[in-house]
This record gives sequence, structure tokens and C-alpha cells, in this order.
Amino acid sequence: MTFATQLLHTGNEIDKTTGASAVPIYQASTFHQEDADHPPQYEYARSGNPTRDALEKTIAALEGGTRGFAFASGMAAISTALLLFSAGDHLIATDDIYGGTFRMLTTVLNRLGIETTFVDVTELDNIRAAIRPNTKGIVLETPSNPLLQITDLAGAAALAKEHGLLTIVDNTFQTPYLQRPLDVGIDVVVHSATKFLGGHSDLVAGLAVTKDTVLGHRLAQLQNSFGAVLGPQDCFLLQRGIKTLKVRMDASCDGAERVARWLSERDDIAKVYYPGLSTHKGHEVHKSQSSRFGAVLSFDAGSAERAKELMKRVELPLVAVSLGGVESILSYPATMSHSGMPQAERHKRGITDGLLRLSVGLEDAEDLIADLEQALDRLK
Ligand SMILES: *Cc1c(COP(=O)(O)O)cnc(C)c1O
Repeated sequence: MTFATQLLHTGNEIDKTTGASAVPIYQASTFHQEDADHPPQYEYARSGNPTRDALEKTIAALEGGTRGFAFASGMAAISTALLLFSAGDHLIATDDIYGGTFRMLTTVLNRLGIETTFVDVTELDNIRAAIRPNTKGIVLETPSNPLLQITDLAGAAALAKEHGLLTIVDNTFQTPYLQRPLDVGIDVVVHSATKFLGGHSDLVAGLAVTKDTVLGHRLAQLQNSFGAVLGPQDCFLLQRGIKTLKVRMDASCDGAERVARWLSERDDIAKVYYPGLSTHKGHEVHKSQSSRFGAVLSFDAGSAERAKELMKRVELPLVAVSLGGVESILSYPATMSHSGMPQAERHKRGITDGLLRLSVGLEDAEDLIADLEQALDRLK
């Protein structure tokens, strides 16, 4: 079955008891037990709820895993997955990492005795060089946020296996439609489902998937222990959003490719970051592991003043934190997604004060380009 069909037919698309065309919102915290000696499939909604169960089975199937988990946010999914590690463990993470994950690693896990080294993971040798006797895991994002840097997933997975390390990949930007990390040997995939999977900028959610059943069992215990589960209403909304993932993603990728090309031809744009540009570092690696280039691009407007002025002048994109919605979203990493990162760290990583990130939605690309053009032409 192709991915397009699988989005709609994963085996849990109808309600098992009524045949309803959607799994309903089982708004219940607890479930009747006929017999105290034989606990039913569902007993308490933190441990399991039928609406969440349907969603978890869907994401597991789409990522090619055996077990899926739904959380109250992307950060809840990532933080819970990071609890697979213990005091004394050392992690290696991409230096172009989501700001919230950076904050979790550097202000919370460090206090619990889990230390992280951030390296430029676009060169696998940098990962190899950072491995210590107590290194236990590698945390990756590709393309990364916000510079769209590309990491060789199969290469990283092979290196990790050689050293007995657990790999976690944040697949938010590509979704399983475009990229399936578990297929190339990654251990845990995490998502901010708030973005493309939900797709409508109307819910906050996170997902995690594993292929290995022992690892799946450990993550299930952590999900239940930490308890940051997604409620049934949001599970329903997310399940609904996922049904249109392919058509939304295809349209947004088409738009992003056109906008990126247009921006890259303008003299007043210092730099465009988009994996689809043949000049983008990692373009070939990305092509080998992802079926399309994605819907997110970043560009340097030249200075903080120009970037902020552009945000005021554009009329179509939502100027906001977040990405992956049906509407285009323009954001300013320095004060939005990466405000958790000290300025010196940001600059060291290349997240300049003129950098803007654009998540291309479903508007016609012509209209988006015309809007960006009127805004840029009026800048000083
Ligand atoms: C938004 C985002 C997160 C965090 O997800 P929330 O749903 O906001 O908690 C993590 N990783 C990436 C790449 C993101 O874009």
C-alpha cells in the first residue's frame, strides 16, 4: 500500500463498535472493569484511551514502527524520549537544534546528570570525535531548525550502532510522508505534531515512534510514568489532520520550491537556506534520504531592522512562532523559536539577526511571491 492510501487506511479508520467513519472522542478518564482479576484493554486513560490508541497506531504505521505514543506537546514527546537516559550518561546533539530541546538539554537534563555536547553533525566525523566512554545517545534533526542543515541519517545510525548509542531524530519538518528515519536504522522518531501532522495551527501535540519492541516497552512505561499524554479531543483533531497530510505537504513543497528560487535570485537577500537549492550544503544527502525538500525555508534579510520591517509589511503570512500550518507562517528565530538560546550561542550557530524563517502554507505561490515582493521593494 502506498503512503497516500495508508494515510486513510491503517486498519483503525472506523470505530470498532459502531462502524462510525471516524474513531470518536472517548471522553472518559476510566473504564468499567467486569472482573477484578482480568483487567480490560483500557483501564485508566493516562495508560490508554481508544481515541489516543487509534492515533498512536496510525503514527506507528506511517513511520514504519511497531509502537506510537501521543503526548501533550512536541516538547513532552522529546522530553519523555530523553528520559530513556540516566544520570552519568553523555549525549551528542546537533548544534542547530530546536530552541526548546536546547533548553531541555541545557537547563533540565544537565541538572539530572545528563550532559550534552553540541556538534556540527553535518560532518559525521564531528560526532565520532565527540564520543566518550559514557556517551549513550545522539539527538538529531534533519533538516535542522532554522538553518535547514542536513545530516546523513543512515550514516549517523550506522555510527551509533557501531558504538552502541541510541539515536533520536526529530522528524517534524519532513513528516513520515517525506522521510522515514526508522527505515534507515534510527531508534526513536519524535514529532511536534503541532506542525505539519496537525497541519491547521489549531492544536499542540507531540508524537514518538519506535520500531524495536523492547524500546517501545520502555517508552510506554515512561509515557505512563511521566504522564504528559494527549487528551482525546486533541487526538481526534490530530487524526483528522493527518488524513490530508500528503495533499497539504505536496502543495506546500511546490510553493516552498518556487519561493526559495525566487528569493535566491534577489540581490537584496543575503542568503537563502533551503535543501531544494542545488547550492545548499547537503542537497545531495537530503535527496538520498527524503522524497521532497519540505515546506520550510529561511533567508537572511540583511539586518535586524530589515527583517523586522519585512515582518510588518507582509500581508499574507501569519507572523508568528510555529510552522506547518495551512497558512504560511513567517517567524523571526532570534526572538521567537530561539529566544531560549543566548545571543552569543545563536550567532556562533549562524542564526543571525537578519534571519527569517518561512513555512509555506497552501496559498498560491504567485500570491506569496507578490506579497514578499511588495514588502521587500519598500524596504530601505
Ligand atoms: C515546534 C517544534 C518542537 C516543539 O514542539 P511543541 O509542539 O511546540 O512542543 C520541537 N521540534 C521542532 C523541530 C519544532 O519545530
